[in-house]
Amino acid sequence: EKQKLKRLKTTRATTLDGTEVELHANIELPEDIADVKANGATGIGLFRSEFLFLNRRDLPGEEEQFLAYRKVAEEMHGFPVTIRTLDLGADKQLFGSENTSANPALGLRAIRLCLAEPQLFHAQLRAILRASHYGKIKLLIPMLSSLTELNQACHLLAHAKQSLDDENIPYDANMPLGGMIEIPAAALAAHIFAKHLDFLSIGTNDLIQYTLAIDRTDDSVAHLYDPLHPSVLQLISYAIKSADKAGIPVSVCGEMAGDVRLTRLLLGLGLRQFSMHPAHLLAVKQQILRTNLPELPSLVNRMLKTEEPERMHMHLARLNS
Ligand code: PEP
Ligand code: MG
Repeated sequence: EKQKLKRLKTTRATTLDGTEVELHANIELPEDIADVKANGATGIGLFRSEFLFLNRRDLPGEEEQFLAYRKVAEEMHGFPVTIRTLDLGADKQLFGSENTSANPALGLRAIRLCLAEPQLFHAQLRAILRASHYGKIKLLIPMLSSLTELNQACHLLAHAKQSLDDENIPYDANMPLGGMIEIPAAALAAHIFAKHLDFLSIGTNDLIQYTLAIDRTDDSVAHLYDPLHPSVLQLISYAIKSADKAGIPVSVCGEMAGDVRLTRLLLGLGLRQFSMHPAHLLAVKQQILRTNLPELPSLVNRMLKTEEPERMHMHLARLNS
């Protein structure tokens, strides 16, 4: 079976009715690129840049970050590379900084932390912008909850661009800017974010955590963590529809995107771009190759309206049969 999957590496991810689907990979460090290529991804949908900052005593400055981002951009040879700005805090703490917040997942993390530490953010933005001259880089902001945060981030991005202009350092002036939809408030406001961004990326790991109030790192409630909860599906559906309406691309980059049992469900919700751990990519591609899109909407719409969890699993089984 593994050998069979390997043969799909260069096959395009197209459904039986001829619809193209984009399959991208998630990475944590530049050395993950080998795995990305071995599995035939046509882009990086999520580069979790905070991993450059973890498991070390010092922090990488602008130059070290620039070299890492440039390496990924160059090695992907023109395929898109989506770099997410720092998602530190909560379960990803810097060395030596302990968590003093009673609810770290609701605390100063990701874009909130970056807006509170503008110098840290400035160095990263400059590094990403500089790397954008060497490949096709897209910038992704994590954990947006309000437009105010996006406006502040845009202001700092403009400031970083200005500083590069002043030094005559080249960058891609048209680098696309996207936002992660991973807080329920952002999903419900997806139509607003879609007006101000070039693309959306749905982070289902956090979206499920915050929608269901289930700590994703707490084993004692892991059995309640349910990607098929109707409220979760409604939020994903709304985010996809909002992006479609605004005419911008949307992807899912949480674990749901790499779960082959959920591929048809996501396709039926209108998703055409997936980003996942490279190890799952070929199995998801195989499922896409076996799928006839026109058959999906009626069953998926029934799932969106389902009230009983048992029925949800029955519908899912039918969708996958
Ligand atoms: C997510 O929340 O789904 C996501 C992709 O981000 P992370 O898992 O890094 O929080
Ligand atoms: Mg997340």
